[in-house]
Amino acid sequence: MSDKNQLDFKIPTHLLPADGRFGCGPSKVRPEQVAAVTSRLTSVMGTSHRQAPVKNIVGSVRSGLMSLFNLPEGWEIVLGNGGSTVFWDVATFGLIRERSHHLVFGEFSSKFAEASAAAPHLADPVVLSSDTGTHPTPVADASCDIYAYPHNETSTGVALTPVRPGGDGLVVVDATSAAGGLMWDPANVDVYYFAPQKCFAGDGGLWIAACSPRAVERIREIKATKRWQPASLDLSIALDNSVANQTYNTPALATLIMLDEQVQWMNTNGGLQWAANRSADSARTLYSWAESRAFATPFVANSAQRSNVVGTIDIDGVDANQISAILRANGVVDTDSYRKLGRNQLRIGMFPAIDPADVAALTGCIDVVVEHLSS
Ligand SMILES: *Cc1c(COP(=O)(O)O)cnc(C)c1O
Repeated sequence: MSDKNQLDFKIPTHLLPADGRFGCGPSKVRPEQVAAVTSRLTSVMGTSHRQAPVKNIVGSVRSGLMSLFNLPEGWEIVLGNGGSTVFWDVATFGLIRERSHHLVFGEFSSKFAEASAAAPHLADPVVLSSDTGTHPTPVADASCDIYAYPHNETSTGVALTPVRPGGDGLVVVDATSAAGGLMWDPANVDVYYFAPQKCFAGDGGLWIAACSPRAVERIREIKATKRWQPASLDLSIALDNSVANQTYNTPALATLIMLDEQVQWMNTNGGLQWAANRSADSARTLYSWAESRAFATPFVANSAQRSNVVGTIDIDGVDANQISAILRANGVVDTDSYRKLGRNQLRIGMFPAIDPADVAALTGCIDVVVEHLSS
């Protein structure tokens, strides 16, 4: 059978998910979020971010996240432009006193370790790594003043529920793909940072960091040392602007509106536990399906480390790229594996916005595509 014929395969319409977006970021945006932008077409879009209409949305995002994460008094929601990648540089200037400790178990966790290793004003970081598909065990290290690791390693689908390794170090968690879809205890974390294009189903471009009182203290302490910090990466400037419901420079307004809408959607439906339950439902469906198929295996062998928001499924005997290509031709998109991982794999976003029934439908679609490719 020629490749062309194979890609021409039509998945029966009744098997298709209602929404075919399964990417791990950018990810499915709910129509209500776009409607929220449209409904503010003249009242917010195209208006000053220094005036009440936009500041009220920033304020609503900040208070909405405080209640979503059930944060104790004294925590601050800080935000700025540039996404989580820029936050690594922000943290390198404004959170790490001297030496950071990193758990590296995939592409995203390695990037923060690289950023701090490259910083001339810091000592070489301590890096503990493990094979992809697993995570290292968090351990205390008295020589380090921050512990950095992801809540969810998006490149591999491994989740690590935040714990405090011990000692004085601040716990700084990359929650880019976890925030809003996985449970966590603020007692175990000092900085929980993320971007809006994953569980919050928005658009990229912002970083948001929930900061504990100890983290706020650290930000002030480092600022007082007069260490050079570029203003656009200066966490104390971002903090001062955030408490006034502003950003240092102009934010993308539509991104803020979509984020606010998603936080409200979660809060009005039952909060973080409700949102996390939706992802957990999807994950149960996906992993139990994979375990029941001869051609599929969950990549993360230890089920306790398997992510409820990013599912990675190894495929045997069929080219996973061909499966993804046929799905795409049928309107079911972004099921491709993380390229640098180099595995014959599908990677499936199971963020709260994605209907668990659509994840179930997706498994049915993969079944017929694999049957077609095997025949
Ligand atoms: C997506 C992702 C990032 C990068 O986010 P940007 O907003 O694109 O910079 C960082 N860390 C994790 C865990 C991610 O999933």
